[in-house]
Amino acid sequence: MPVTVARSLDDALSALEEHPNALILAGGTDVMVEVNKGTRPVEQVISIGRVPELQDWEHEGDWLHLGAAVTYTELMGEELSSLVPALAQAARTVGSPQIRNAGTIGGNLGTSSPAGDTLPALFALNAILTIRSKTTVKEVPIDEFITGVKSNSLNPGELIEKIRVPVLEGPQEFCKIGPRNAMVISVASFTLLTDHQEKQVKSCLGTVGPVPIRPTEAEDFISGEVNWEQNTVRPEVLDNFAALCSSAARPIDDHRGSAAYRRHAIRVLSRRAASRVFSEEIS
Ligand SMILES: Cc1cc2nc3c(=O)[nH]c(=O)nc-3n(C[C@H](O)[C@H](O)[C@H](O)COP(=O)(O)OP(=O)(O)OC[C@H]3O[C@@H](n4cnc5c(N)ncnc54)[C@H](O)[C@@H]3O)c2cc1C
Repeated sequence: MPVTVARSLDDALSALEEHPNALILAGGTDVMVEVNKGTRPVEQVISIGRVPELQDWEHEGDWLHLGAAVTYTELMGEELSSLVPALAQAARTVGSPQIRNAGTIGGNLGTSSPAGDTLPALFALNAILTIRSKTTVKEVPIDEFITGVKSNSLNPGELIEKIRVPVLEGPQEFCKIGPRNAMVISVASFTLLTDHQEKQVKSCLGTVGPVPIRPTEAEDFISGEVNWEQNTVRPEVLDNFAALCSSAARPIDDHRGSAAYRRHAIRVLSRRAASRVFSEEIS
């Protein structure tokens, strides 16, 4: 099968213009599983793993711009984990060191699995994707990019160039449950971000619906109850927040867990995340 190894963004876009339905290969940690199983027919491959423009990231004012080929290992690095702690925590839970060295944030988006571990943090951050073809460029909010289970709005000839997220002031948490502690695909996950400037809690449920879910009622409720000067909440607020998060879930039964277990897991994870981020007021 013909493979183009792109050495620049322009190389990759020219190859995509010529072969709009080619398989885009980044780290290959999702794609090669399917190719080896024979479930993904491939006629042409464009490898983007050596495109410097896609491997870069930049912190500019209140924004972080991440190239699509930034790996999990890079996300876990000191600088990026201080700018987007929830994304770094999510990256730390992905696969093994080998998978984290090869797997990329753009690949997680490209696969668009409900269990993709970076997706809840990107939804909570209202990430904006730059989607580019040889002749067009557009910015797409993440909730318009991910359209369903393993489906997205990318058109033939396009690739994800970069992902833009705000750098928020305040603690962040990512929690994940799976059948074991490491090398595990999520059964349920929860991301919680605080925005001390806007006095807002932003959160997202993972793996309990066809796409990541923002529990907006729960977010509005807890944002109004936090003592933002002290960074504290009353214990009953945590309980109500967890109940609202759990009722926002739309889980299914599958081989990894039942819907009832997933709904319960969200209640536990959301309370745990919020109690790590806020101190409980003692009455
Ligand atoms: C053993 C193992 C453990 C794993 N554990 C986890 C886990 O814990 N959590 C988790 O979330 N995932 C896990 N994964 C899945 C996988 O590692 C991630 O989804 C990873 O982010 C995929 O990135 P990649 O660069 O390898 O993508 P690839 O496999 O190269 O590509 C994945 C898809 O994205 C498309 N794509 C890639 N880059 C772009 C781009 N820039 N523009 C447009 N389309 C693009 C490809 O065409 C393909 O459809 C695991 C995989 C394995 C094999």
